[in-house]
Amino acid sequence: MRFTHESLPQRVRFATGEADAALAAEIDRLGARRVMVIASGREAETAARITSEIPVALRHDEVVMHVPVEVAERARARAAEHTVDAIVCIGGGSTTGLAKAVALTTGLPIVAVPTTYAGSEATDVWGLTSDGTKTTGVDPRVLPGAVVYDASLLATLPGELAVASGLNALAHCVDAMWGPRVDPIDQVFATEGIRGLAAGLPKVARDSAGVEGIEQTLYGAYLAAVSFTSAGSGMHHKICHVLGGMFDLPHAQTHAVVLPHVLAFNAPSAPEAEARMASAFGAASAVEGLAGLRTTLGAPQALKDYGMPEDGIAQAVAPILAAIPDNNPAPVTEANLAALLRAAWAGAHPDKREES
Ligand code: NAD
Repeated sequence: MRFTHESLPQRVRFATGEADAALAAEIDRLGARRVMVIASGREAETAARITSEIPVALRHDEVVMHVPVEVAERARARAAEHTVDAIVCIGGGSTTGLAKAVALTTGLPIVAVPTTYAGSEATDVWGLTSDGTKTTGVDPRVLPGAVVYDASLLATLPGELAVASGLNALAHCVDAMWGPRVDPIDQVFATEGIRGLAAGLPKVARDSAGVEGIEQTLYGAYLAAVSFTSAGSGMHHKICHVLGGMFDLPHAQTHAVVLPHVLAFNAPSAPEAEARMASAFGAASAVEGLAGLRTTLGAPQALKDYGMPEDGIAQAVAPILAAIPDNNPAPVTEANLAALLRAAWAGAHPDKREES
């Protein structure tokens, strides 16, 4: 056996109902005296409550999806003005993304308190948008040194958003199984991530404020991000990235629709990964496990429902084909990729593809 696995250096605390104390302990460990707290207006009250025990020098609430460069520059300028020595971010991937943008140029340490299942807190990937174009990069400075997960903070996440965010995390796990840098350790994390998400998400769908379901889903979402950042983007993420960019499709729904098609496509050529995923779903096969979960959750079915035009199928084939990693388990051709996209577009059963 030969592989090299790199674990990212990060402390992770699960502290349901105790984000304030856990955050104070992490800030204390850092010896920080002047903390910048980043939280959007929506999170302001929560942020005030859980930061009451730390030395806050600056509160910053200008959070914008996909981190426009000018928003990042304003946050960096305020951090410098107030001579802050650490950042605490409380919110979803957009809020974590802004903290990362500040850390990228300042080297300030981040303690992240996530309030969605996006998983950005567990990666060293940053993203900035300029004139509608997103640039991403990898830098060790943007990895939060510590993460505090408090399930009670996600009780306010609306059910539909919670399910979409959780399915996105599930896509991280499935795609990590055959990502371009995948190793056996990533597969262990991804498999356990699937188990956590498959156990937690139905509970979240039934009762979006129920703490037990949120805890299981958060645990799965963390493992999903860890496995995915190590394994890299596989076929599923390449498809969603191209389709999302070409047709301005909604992120979470695109992932939710495409995932069963990629799983059905790759599973027969990746029997070991398939068996692990099946056991994580507690089903006879990975495809059946995902189908059952999707039915329970009432997951989105067809890309045509989200604005993808039918002639977009032919348009998307070449750029997707060029992006799919060479190590993809099943050989991808123009014909079988077009058939997969057509099935996802129409909302057909993933196993009933017809090659055109
Ligand atoms: P988001 O942070 O934009 O949040 C979505 C909405 O949910 C916002 O309106 C927010 O105010 C609200 N919200 C957040 N938490 C809530 C809560 N607990 N209760 C009620 N409402 C709440 O969306 P997201 O899906 O968390 O993150 C998406 C962004 O993160 C994208 O820009 C994506 O590219 C990025 N991302 C980056 C990485 C990475 O590794 N760099 C990984 C995943 C996602």
